[in-house]
Amino acid sequence: MRAEKAKKLVLVALGGNALIRKHQTGTLEEQLENLKVPIREIARLSMAYRIIITHGNGPQVGNLQLQQESCSAVPRMPLEILVAQTQGQIGYMIESTLDSELMALGIVTQKYIVSLISYVVVDEQDPAFKHPSKPVGPVYSETQAASLPYPTRKTAKGYRRVVASPKPLTIVEKREIRELIKRDFIVICCGGGGIPVIREGRSFCGVDAVIDKDLASAKLAGEVGVDIFVIATDVKGVALDYGKAGERYLRTLSCREAVVYRELGHFPDGSIWPKIEAGMQFLNSGGQTAVICSIEEIGDAVLGKAGTRIIP
Ligand code: ADP
Ligand code: MG
Repeated sequence: MRAEKAKKLVLVALGGNALIRKHQTGTLEEQLENLKVPIREIARLSMAYRIIITHGNGPQVGNLQLQQESCSAVPRMPLEILVAQTQGQIGYMIESTLDSELMALGIVTQKYIVSLISYVVVDEQDPAFKHPSKPVGPVYSETQAASLPYPTRKTAKGYRRVVASPKPLTIVEKREIRELIKRDFIVICCGGGGIPVIREGRSFCGVDAVIDKDLASAKLAGEVGVDIFVIATDVKGVALDYGKAGERYLRTLSCREAVVYRELGHFPDGSIWPKIEAGMQFLNSGGQTAVICSIEEIGDAVLGKAGTRIIP
């Protein structure tokens, strides 16, 4: 028991692409196959570290929205309910994959896994509510978009629904997560950035919004005292001149450099930038190690041998 307590705590934030690759539609078989790679890495890590897993839900919540828009026989559910549904479905996929990978490695003893429906508190006055900017769900034609009951915006792919993306203030279940971690549970939580809620007196009320999963993960990492924060995605780290002739990946990125490079246009909104911001916020909250890496290199990134480390 004593040895367990000395183990460092790693939080791995899995990108939506860990489950559905960009060219895929997201069948169950595809998602389970894709998950094997990062989950095998995490299963190995769990021998030496305590583990929290968070995950994105972009493609899954988009598919649920499309499903409910294709059917008028049952009432539509608001976004917060769809986020809750994705926490359940993805939590189940991660749990079952992790269970198989742990068994394949022969780690069957004393490894308990739990997925937690997680709420994240946001501020009702957050300016994001006045300017919905985060595209979610399916792509529509201009005419279809005009008939929808919510705001849409023209994106590179076509018209999409846009929702507010307020800042995460606190994770409601942080105490439960701390307790589970102390008991060496592997905890899957804050899926899709968490179910966004506002406080109403002593209770909570869900709101139509989505929280960036990297920023929610950084908040959780600070609140539960994570030692190593790993943001795993489909590229091997942070690059300068990404996608251009002179593309080069960075081994480290300081907070000052990040701001300078962003001003120079290296880090666009909504993709790699929230990951860098999340790394910086984790360090600001007292965290030690934040690294952005590919889902194939999670283990090496924890050891400082892969990915881009965000440094003060
Ligand atoms: P996730 O689903 O893991 O959150 P995102 O698609 O939101 O992934 O963000 C990762 C993507 O950011 C990469 O696939 C890459 O295409 C894009 N990207 C944009 N600029 C950069 C950059 N400077 N360095 C690395 N990746 C970048
Ligand atoms: Mg993302």
